[in-house]
Amino acid sequence: MDFKLKLLIEELKSQGIEDKLVLKALEEIPRKLFVPKNLREEAYENHPLHIGHNQTISQPYTTAFMLQNLKLNNNDIVLEIGTGSGWSTALTAYICEKIYSIETIPELSKTAKENIKKTKLKNIKIITGDGSKGLKKYSPYDKIIVNAACSQVPNILISQLKNNGILICPVGNLYEQSLLKIVKEKNNIKTYNLGGFIFVPLVSEEYGF
Ligand code: SAH
Repeated sequence: MDFKLKLLIEELKSQGIEDKLVLKALEEIPRKLFVPKNLREEAYENHPLHIGHNQTISQPYTTAFMLQNLKLNNNDIVLEIGTGSGWSTALTAYICEKIYSIETIPELSKTAKENIKKTKLKNIKIITGDGSKGLKKYSPYDKIIVNAACSQVPNILISQLKNNGILICPVGNLYEQSLLKIVKEKNNIKTYNLGGFIFVPLVSEEYGF
């Protein structure tokens, strides 16, 4: 394993990332493949990097923390809003059965597809469009992950979750959000606040900025 990647994984472990499947995915899906060529040297540093179009590939800790809280397993059908570079898509795909990922910027979904081709993963479908209303066609999902800041909880996504499904989404204002974990139980919606983070804004009339 790349020495810098090894150091990054040690750092993530010390920050509380302990899910074996997430750690294995981080080892097997090199972030290097998902950052622009001129930033490859920084690929294993624990901070976000610019990927063009005013967007970033998330900080490794943030991605690992979100995936750990999704409690992913190999039967999961997952919906992701905000593909970006495709890195978190590929990490998720390494663990789950199938992932549908929606990206609004066509150039980014094209690059994400090219990045993903470099892995051997075949269980990913990237869709270009507005993901803020989810994707009814393949619903319900076991897990839904939103990679951009929402102005309010996107209830429409909760309606596309299976029973006992989990939605992770950052909700707040443009400058800071609380990362929420929402668990859908039969007649009950449970919400847990996982702490403060900063995400790029979701582009959406109803749930974004
Ligand atoms: N986790 C990603 C980074 C995602 S950045 C990675 O590892 O690379 C958030 C992404 O959400 C951006 O690419 C942005 O274009 C996209 N986005 C914002 N609003 C969206 C919407 N309504 N539907 C789909 N994608 C959206």
